[in-house]
Amino acid sequence: MFRKIRLFTPGPTPLLPAAQFAMAAADLHHRTPEFRALYARVLKQLQAFIGTRNDVLVLASSGTGAMEAAVSNLTSPHQHVVVLSAGKFGERWISLAQAFGCEVETVTAPYGESFELDMLRNHIKPGVRTVFVQATESSTGVRHCIPAIAQLARQCNALLVVDAITGFGTTQFDVDGDGVDVILGGSQKALMIPPGLAYLAVSERAWQSMENSRQPRYYFDLRKERKNASKGESSYTPAVALIAALGAALDHIAAQAGGDVAAGRRLLVANAELCAAMTRAAVAALGLELFAPVAPAAALTAVKAPPSMTSTDVVQQCKAQFGAVLADGQGDMKGQLFRIAHIGYFDPLDTLAVIGALEQVLYALLPARVSLGSALTAAQQVYRRAAEGEPSNRCACGRRQAVCLVSAAVATGDQP
Ligand SMILES: *Cc1c(COP(=O)(O)O)cnc(C)c1O
Repeated sequence: MFRKIRLFTPGPTPLLPAAQFAMAAADLHHRTPEFRALYARVLKQLQAFIGTRNDVLVLASSGTGAMEAAVSNLTSPHQHVVVLSAGKFGERWISLAQAFGCEVETVTAPYGESFELDMLRNHIKPGVRTVFVQATESSTGVRHCIPAIAQLARQCNALLVVDAITGFGTTQFDVDGDGVDVILGGSQKALMIPPGLAYLAVSERAWQSMENSRQPRYYFDLRKERKNASKGESSYTPAVALIAALGAALDHIAAQAGGDVAAGRRLLVANAELCAAMTRAAVAALGLELFAPVAPAAALTAVKAPPSMTSTDVVQQCKAQFGAVLADGQGDMKGQLFRIAHIGYFDPLDTLAVIGALEQVLYALLPARVSLGSALTAAQQVYRRAAEGEPSNRCACGRRQAVCLVSAAVATGDQP
C-alpha cells in the first residue's frame, strides 16, 4: 500500500519544516560572534516561551539530562526528598534521586490518576527540602495541578522541581507567580524539533541552594553553564544545529502571534487543548474509555484498549492501514492503552485525520460496535463549539472546574 507516515506520538513529535531547513544550514563554529548572537537570542526567546524572568539554560542531552541536572545540583546524599509519582516518568524521578543517594519519600497515585489535596498536604510538610513532580505524566495522559503543589511547597519552604517535558506548550504555567524553582523541558516535544536538547529555568532560591549541594557533577554543573550562558556560550560544544532549529521553531511560534513568543505559546497551548477535547469526544463516541478521565492532559490522550483486544493491536493496525504512528502503553502498561499526541506541530486537521483512521481500524476489528462517522461527528461538534467561542469547562490543571484542586481549596476558605 502507498502510505504517508505520520507521527502521533508524544515525543518525538512531527518536525517543523522551517526548523529542519535551519538545522541543515547550521554550518557555523560555536566560539564565534555569529553563534553567540544566535545562542543569546534563543535563550531570550526561550525565557518568553517558558514565561519566566529566571535564568534559562540549554543542555545538549535528552530531557532526562535536565532531570538529572536538577537532582545533582539541588540535592545532597542522604537528603530527604519527596517525589510525587503517578507513572513511568514519576518513577524516573525516584530512580534518579535514589541513584544520587537521596532518602526518597514517594507519594504515588495509581496509573491514570492524579494526587488529591489531602495526599499532598500529608507529604509536603515542613522539613521537606525538595519536591519533584511531572506537570503531565506522559505515560498515562494525566495532568497534575502545579499551582496547588507549588503553594504547598512554598508554605514549607521546599524547592519545587517540575518536569514539564510534555507540560510546556500544552499547559499555561505561572512559573514566577507560583514560585516554581526548576522547570524543565525537552526539544522533541512542543518545540517541534528533533531530540537532543533539554532546557530549564532556575530560580534565585535554587541558585542559592546549589551552593550547599554535595553531589558530584561535571557535565551538568548548572552554575558553570549559567556563567557561560551570560556570555552567549555553553560550557562545552553545543548542539549547534539543534540550537539553530530551536531558533527557527521559536520564530515560528512568535510569528503565529505577530512576533510575540508568549502570545504564540498561548496559541500553541489553546491548539493542544482543542485537539485534546476533540479526541476525548471522539473516544467517547466510539464507546472507549479514557485512561486518565479525571484530569486529562492536553499533551496527549491515553485511551484504554477496547474489550477483547490489546492496545498493541490498535497501534499496529493504525500503522499498517494508515501509516499513523500511535504510542502503545509503556512498560507494564503495554497492551492496556494507546496514546495519541496533540503536543507541538499538530492541528485540528491532523486530529480529524487520526480520528478517521481510528474509526476505520476499530470498525474493521469490531464492526458491531462502531458506526463510521460517529467519532468524526463528535470531534467536529467540539471544533464547532470552540470556533463559536464556547469557553472550556476545564481548568488549567485539566480537571473540570467543579473538581479543580485550587478552586476546591478556595471554596472551603482553605489553603491548598
Ligand atoms: C518524554 C518525557 C521524558 C523523557 O525525556 P527524554 O527526552 O526521553 O529523556 C521525561 N518526562 C516526560 C514527562 C516526558 O514526556
